[in-house]
Amino acid sequence: MATLYEIETQYGAGVYLKQPTAFVRGQGATLWDTDGIAYIDCTSGHGAANLGHAHPKVAAALSEQASRLITLFETYPNDQRAALMQKMATLVPGLERVFFCNSGTESVEAALKFARLSTGRSEIVAAMRAFHGRTFGALSATFNKRYRQGFEPLLPGFSHTSFNNIEALDRAVTDRTAAVILEAVQGEGGVYPASEEYLQAAQRICQERGALFIVDEVQSGFGRTGKMFAFQHSGVTPDMVCCAKSLAGGVPMGATLIGKRVSHIAPGAHGSTFGGNPLACAAALAALAVIEEEDLATQAAEKGEYFVEKLKAIRSPLLREVRGLGLMIGVELKQKVAPYLKALHDRHILALNAGMTVIRFLPPLVITYEQLDRVAAALQESLLMDLGEE
Ligand SMILES: *Cc1c(COP(=O)(O)O)cnc(C)c1O
Repeated sequence: MATLYEIETQYGAGVYLKQPTAFVRGQGATLWDTDGIAYIDCTSGHGAANLGHAHPKVAAALSEQASRLITLFETYPNDQRAALMQKMATLVPGLERVFFCNSGTESVEAALKFARLSTGRSEIVAAMRAFHGRTFGALSATFNKRYRQGFEPLLPGFSHTSFNNIEALDRAVTDRTAAVILEAVQGEGGVYPASEEYLQAAQRICQERGALFIVDEVQSGFGRTGKMFAFQHSGVTPDMVCCAKSLAGGVPMGATLIGKRVSHIAPGAHGSTFGGNPLACAAALAALAVIEEEDLATQAAEKGEYFVEKLKAIRSPLLREVRGLGLMIGVELKQKVAPYLKALHDRHILALNAGMTVIRFLPPLVITYEQLDRVAAALQESLLMDLGEE
């Protein structure tokens, strides 16, 4: 009989490098494979499972809403959507309007379109190492060749400037710039937090030159870094904030928060069939309530500090740097991480890479201290093991 791995490898489009282990159930930070073996999940679906897997409050909201109303185009108002709009208007003071969509890349597309519409300008300044998604607009803002190659020509008017470099940004933004788009913590690019001064300078430069300031919080949002949004560590107020991943507790949903400097958005300017559907809205309402009730942001801050301390205590000549914010953590090695991710997998721990030399830990924010201890111990063991073989 074919394994799930074989079936997916045969019939999938082929865009994912599949792992042989298949998972069929989850709870908190634990995933169980088809043999019932438990793994500690430090991937969170790239940040979609901040609340932990199968959170009972999200499950209850989904099942209740599924038997009431699943789909409704935004032409017609709905109780769940209206309640969610009111809730989202409170997340970032000054950003009181919202566009709903279904993914991170769509939340970026919306922000880019609104920026061109609002300013009448076409140029977008993004950062080197940036990842903003894989549709053509978001891909044009994405830096790494690995994602762009084979799809050129991408959109005209996009440029990339050195991250955390205020002078470079100052030179890049002109009176033709519609927007600057930045991640508050670069995720795919290697887990690099933006400095406070950099985000503050970005906001000031945008305001001075009539450009809009977009922050992509798709991976870093919803408590991950110790605040609701990572830019809130810097005291800035962007003009637009791109959200997705954990917004609806793991259910596909994206949102673009919109501030007062964004104008000219009129009926027909943009839209999405599934955007703002009552099912996803009900899940998001439940998820946002859980994030507050369980104070997941504080959990991320405290557990992140604890975990980073443990990681920094690992004595290995392979370790170059441990960095991050909250529970968005990168461990940079002096060599390629693939064999170490495999060694972690063998110890029933799932982690991500971020580029060739960074192991990325993005556990659900409900991960236990005992689980964090096991992850740190397994990493230490893996690093020592390979050293012994050399
Ligand atoms: C994952 C991610 C995206 C794209 O989200 P999708 O839902 O995969 O389209 C965009 N920006 C950042 C920072 C991300 O981490």
